[in-house]
Order: sequence, then structure tokens, then C-alpha cells
Amino acid sequence: MRILLSTVAIACLASLSACATPNPPTPREPNLIARHPPKLLPVPPRAQPPSGPNSQAFSRTVDLGSGISMLIGQGGNLGLSVGDDGVFLIDDQYVTNATANLAKIEELAKGKPKYLVNTHWHFDHAGGNETFAKAGATIFASENVRKRLSNEIITTGRTAQPQAAPRAAWPVVTFTSGVDFHLNGQTIRAINAPMPTHTDGDVLIYFVEADVLHTGDTYMKDRYPFVDTGSGGTQAGFIATLTRALEITGPNTRIIPGHGDLATEADLQGALDMHKGARAAVDALVKQGKTLEEAVAAKPLQPWNARFGGPGGFINDDAYTTVIYNELKK
Ligand SMILES: [Zn+2]
Repeated sequence: MRILLSTVAIACLASLSACATPNPPTPREPNLIARHPPKLLPVPPRAQPPSGPNSQAFSRTVDLGSGISMLIGQGGNLGLSVGDDGVFLIDDQYVTNATANLAKIEELAKGKPKYLVNTHWHFDHAGGNETFAKAGATIFASENVRKRLSNEIITTGRTAQPQAAPRAAWPVVTFTSGVDFHLNGQTIRAINAPMPTHTDGDVLIYFVEADVLHTGDTYMKDRYPFVDTGSGGTQAGFIATLTRALEITGPNTRIIPGHGDLATEADLQGALDMHKGARAAVDALVKQGKTLEEAVAAKPLQPWNARFGGPGGFINDDAYTTVIYNELKK
């Protein structure tokens, strides 16, 4: 037996990917090396200590009436409902500013959140889950958010996480088509995106009586979208989901985008028109037999650059053209 163990140890040194370590993994370090090839492991965008970047609490509060607020700061926009039934929160930004956000929300709302809904799994929207859960919040999300936070589904690309989020960060109530909350005089309707969009776990959240819609990152005001293909996102999904959102909204709806300032139905319609126009423009180049390089060089999204290609976003027209091209060529 001793000889056999030595042989295993040498094999481990020689090839990490082929080694199934005899030691069980720690809870925060699942044995991904044994389950997945090393090429899926890099890109660690996760937790920094609270003194690191993105450690500030939200800095702006937009009062939308009926006890509802939009909270703007580092990371995705938060939605907050406060009333007799308790504190309801949409998203929680980064792990690094969760403690500061929790303290500021508690001060503002005179209580800690009881209900927390993630619009999707990204670390700038759901990164604070563990902190809020430990403070007593019950986390709700689409089923795929739990699967991605737990690494049951492995994420690739720029948002790949080398290890699962802590178990306390995983949503405890999941849904696949939607769920209604009846709180604080509102019907708060979480609606799953009709198809994978920004990710494969997006939800829209609509306050029916107050006529306020939180879109998560299926909409970022006046920016080209981030189609997170490594999380199952699709460009066609942006067209489908914004079409669905516009069935919900009316001319007076206040829209909380995933990032950016408060928006209107007209803003959302402008984004849908851009997505459709961009897809048609790139499709024309695909049908002409252009290569990806030729299609990007043709600058097909030029008509929309002034509005959607500004400095607020991190996706430029070339990047969006590339995503659309690759999707159309599949
Ligand atoms: Zn996102």
C-alpha cells in the first residue's frame, strides 16, 4: 500500500489535472481540478477584502414613491421596498461593499431585508448574498442563478468563477417562470426572461401598483449590452426580453436598469430598436459572406454609436458586432 500511495503522489506532481487528491476539498475549495480541465479555472474576479475596490455603500437614493427606492452606487442598481410587511431588496452588489450596503439599508429602512431577489448571478449584483443571508434575508432567484453560484453549471469566459460561492450565498427559493410577492401594498412580480439574455438566469421584477420595473442587466441605459455567452447569454434574448418588458410597461413606467440612471419606456424602446437594427445590419454582412474581421471593419453599428457607445459602458460596437456575428454563424 505504501508503494501504491507513493506512485499516486508522483503522478499528482507530474500532472495536476489527472490527480484525484486523497484529501477531501475544503468547503470553499471544491475539487474543481479533478472535475474540470485547468483551462476553465483561471480568471478569478471574486472576493477582495472590504478595504479593496468597490467597498463603498451606495451613494444615491432615488425615491420612487410607495416606499420604493432605486439605490445607485458601485455595482448594479438596487431596488428597495419598505413598508409594514418588511424590507424587500432587489440585488446586493459586491461582496466587498455588502456590509456597508447592509448598514446603510438598515438605517434607511429601519430594518434588515427579509426578502432578497437576485436579477441574475453576477458578482456585482449577487456578490453580497452571503452577507445579507446571514443577516436574515431569504434569497429568491431563478433556478439557474443557484446552479451558477454553486458551480453546478460551470461558467466560462470573463465571469468564470474558480470556485463556488459560499453555500450561504445560494438562493433558497428558486423558480423557472416567475413568482409573485404580496408585500407593502404591492404586487411584486418576478418574471423569468423568455429566453437566455444577459445570462441564462435573468428575471424582470415589476412593482405592479407603483408601475416600477427593475430589468437587471437585460437593460443598461444607453449602453451596448454585455451578452455573457459564458453564462449562456444570447443576443436574440435581448430582443425577446425587451419585447416582453415592453408588454409590461406603459408610458409612465419608471425603469430601474441594471446599470445607469432611471429610464423610461421610450428609453427601453430605443434599446430594443437598437438590438433589432444591429442584428439586421450584422446579418446582412453574414449573408454577403463577410468574415468576422470584415464584418467588424465595416462598422455596421455606426448609426447607434452616438447613443449606445459612450464612455459609460464597457462593450463597444466592435465587441457587440462580434457577439452578434458569432451567434448568427452558429
Ligand atoms: Zn450582469
